[in-house]
Amino acid sequence: MENGSFLHKTAARSAQMYREAARWIPGGVTANIKYFTPYPIFMDSASGAYLYDVDGNQYIDYNLCYGALILGHGDQRIIAAINETFSHIGTTIFGTPHRLEAEMARVLVDLYPGIEKVRFTNSGLEATLLAIRLAMAWTGRKKLAKFEGHYHGSYDQVLISVTPQKRNLRRHPVKTSDSLGLPEYYAENTVVLPFNEWDQTEEILHQHRHEIAAVIMEPIQGGFIPPDETFLKRLRELTQQYGIVLIFDEVKTGFRTGLSGAQGIYGVVPDLTALGKVLGGGFPVGAVGGRVEMMELCSPASGVDILTTEQQPPSFGQDQPLFHSGTYNGHPIVLTAGLATIQVLRESGVYPQLEANTTQLRNGMEEILSRYGIASQTVGIGSIFNLVLADLPVRRIQDVLESNLSLRRNLDTHLLNQGVFIKPLNRFSLSTAHSAEVIDETLERFELAVKSLVR
Ligand code: PLP
Repeated sequence: MENGSFLHKTAARSAQMYREAARWIPGGVTANIKYFTPYPIFMDSASGAYLYDVDGNQYIDYNLCYGALILGHGDQRIIAAINETFSHIGTTIFGTPHRLEAEMARVLVDLYPGIEKVRFTNSGLEATLLAIRLAMAWTGRKKLAKFEGHYHGSYDQVLISVTPQKRNLRRHPVKTSDSLGLPEYYAENTVVLPFNEWDQTEEILHQHRHEIAAVIMEPIQGGFIPPDETFLKRLRELTQQYGIVLIFDEVKTGFRTGLSGAQGIYGVVPDLTALGKVLGGGFPVGAVGGRVEMMELCSPASGVDILTTEQQPPSFGQDQPLFHSGTYNGHPIVLTAGLATIQVLRESGVYPQLEANTTQLRNGMEEILSRYGIASQTVGIGSIFNLVLADLPVRRIQDVLESNLSLRRNLDTHLLNQGVFIKPLNRFSLSTAHSAEVIDETLERFELAVKSLVR
């Protein structure tokens, strides 16, 4: 099999722009995940399911800004709603409360079983950060339990055991640091759990039950590996029994697996939920929602107003409400884009169509790969899936590491060459703009990529 050389397409301008960017920006990218070798492709414009790069190449986009763009690029309903808001409010932002905040909060309370009150943030990162702070304040405990291989944003407290270790037979979770520059404090106060391994999870939680403030998790790992049938239910029961706050990080799964996220599908209600991505209709957003008594911890109306307290309170952090702030929180344009997105998603038939198109793509890919003798499976739920080149059961991210990753990387390069945009080794996300015709076109390109791979 031939290594996919990057790129047989014209890519001279991307290469040149990358060199220029790398002079001023470390690695030439503004987020590490956007980097790939030999250089990332620079995009120039986009429309619906398609991206167009600076060299004039067209791609069918399956990255969709890491899943955020559930209606595809430049959906006219979102653009029209933004224009209307602009022409009505006459500003980009008020810097005060406004009507759309409560409107969006009400929508989330209506849709998510675990949400009774809401605060907005500017990213998924900030949402999980606030959820963890709420849990620490609620319980008075200082340890965080998180699952190996689960991502919750790019900050110290959760950059632990995100990049999974290869599967080991005893399946003990391993505590690792995912970045330079992390103080040891966080690792010392983190308890790492194995996803989909109930007995070990139960044992570890029991051992640390008096110290753990919260268990934070992606209810569907990486947005594509579903939990075992009873895993979430048992976890809910045990955390309740131990007085541990259960946080569902639904930044990926929110609005992707349906209007009510993973909690809607599995019927398990967390104490706190973090949202992001789809919620912003393509703009930066995050939200935390949860039980009213926990959420009220950050209400300045019920605590001491710290902005008028000149002296330090007698003991650290006491006598203050939980502090949460952000200049751009609840941005009216962001909320407008999010509300317009949700309005479309609420129309009947939207999710079934999205899922039918996803199934068509998954089945087609599996069929092509099997015809070319490549062991493969697609793993996912709703409109997100991953392509795993192995036939072993996939229950944890470590199982993906056991698959043929070098072949997958080569395939992804060939897909880029054929005009299918995927961040190498990453999952696939679909949008409502990925019609049955677009899927057919994708499968034609996919077969060409596989053919050139095995040539
Ligand atoms: N949580 C999950 C599950 C995510 O997938 C992400 C981003 O990919 C985040 C949190 C962080 O969100 P953001 O990139 O908006 O900070």
